[in-house]
Amino acid sequence: MTAILPVATELASLRTERVPVAILGATGSVGQRFIQLLANHPWFRVHEVVASDRSAGKNYGTAADWRLESLVPDDVAKLTVKNLGADLESRLLFSGLDSSVAGEAEDDYANRGCAVISNSRNHRMDSDVPLLIPEVNAEHLGAIEVQRKRRAGYIVTNPNCSVVGLAMALAPLERAFGLEAVQVTTMQAISGAGYAGVASYAILDNVIPYIGGGEEEKIETEPRKILGAWKDDHFAEAPMTISAQVNRVPTIDGHLMTVSAKLRNAAEIREVREAIENFAGEPQKLGLPTAPKHPIHFLDATDRPQPRLDRDRENGMAVSVGRLRHCPILDIRFVALVHNTIRGAAGAAILNAELLKAKGLL
Ligand code: NAP
Repeated sequence: MTAILPVATELASLRTERVPVAILGATGSVGQRFIQLLANHPWFRVHEVVASDRSAGKNYGTAADWRLESLVPDDVAKLTVKNLGADLESRLLFSGLDSSVAGEAEDDYANRGCAVISNSRNHRMDSDVPLLIPEVNAEHLGAIEVQRKRRAGYIVTNPNCSVVGLAMALAPLERAFGLEAVQVTTMQAISGAGYAGVASYAILDNVIPYIGGGEEEKIETEPRKILGAWKDDHFAEAPMTISAQVNRVPTIDGHLMTVSAKLRNAAEIREVREAIENFAGEPQKLGLPTAPKHPIHFLDATDRPQPRLDRDRENGMAVSVGRLRHCPILDIRFVALVHNTIRGAAGAAILNAELLKAKGLL
């Protein structure tokens, strides 16, 4: 008995040491991924869930129309959903809020002293808010110090779901050769539009060559901030031109994109491949819990990557690249794939929070 008690106490204290977090927009498709990915997370535990008045006051298990294969974790199912704007005990908030309310709500919680890690588009291009991919631009966390001059807490954002895959695939090329121009065509999964986003009658047996909410503009602007520098308290954008065309296709998860690029300094296909294969960053160096061992998987098969076969590599956190070859108009071309709700959303935000904790910023 005396031997058991200290062990149990030790385990309990380890559990309570995990950072309590709140999920804003917990009932949505990104919110559900947060809850799935944070179950048994070594550093964070879900302590509070927040959504609209439609859900507030109900148990999470009743309020959420759960759409993932795994079950709702028991401890989260019992939590009572709080109203957006409620006082929260957690100081670390993950946001999967609809963009119609995310901007103001995230500002409000950051002003109250919280660290808000957001998926929404509202603050991505703010002049003192990092648009973070830890493997690519960890030094952009310098912007937090500037942001903290105007409020007690801060916001860190992750990019648009297609942009995460595109910017990760472009980062080794920008570093090694420089990029002058990029042309990208996306084939985006229906989960990217949220559960109620695309009617089955519209998307089955079909491709829709348009995605609202400024999708093409985000793909043309966000990578320039991500691949640029944080210098003298400012973001200096990478000087490249990007042209994007987007399509909604009837896959469930996984955004596939075909990319052509013009390099500033000429390179052999072999050298481009080496740069992509050797790409790694801070999450790999620090061994962060959610980090993929290899952030980019280079695939040799002539018909890969494919969404159904490749989106779950390294628990959905690795981007896949294949079909690398010469481009007769620009210099090179390839195909890239990213899991849009994991590496493109909730997984990306969790990796951002892990980097913040590892750097002592939480
Ligand atoms: P979603 O499934 O529609 O979920 C939206 C969430 O916001 C729900 O929890 C909803 O709560 C809450 N909400 C809506 N209106 C609200 C209000 N007036 N007050 C308080 N809460 C409100 O959307 P999603 O696909 O998860 O996307 C969430 C955010 O992440 C969006 O900004 C989106 O652009 C971004 N994002 C999505 C993806 C993706 O692949 N899906 C990828 C990257 C980024 P109720 O359930 O109570 O209504």
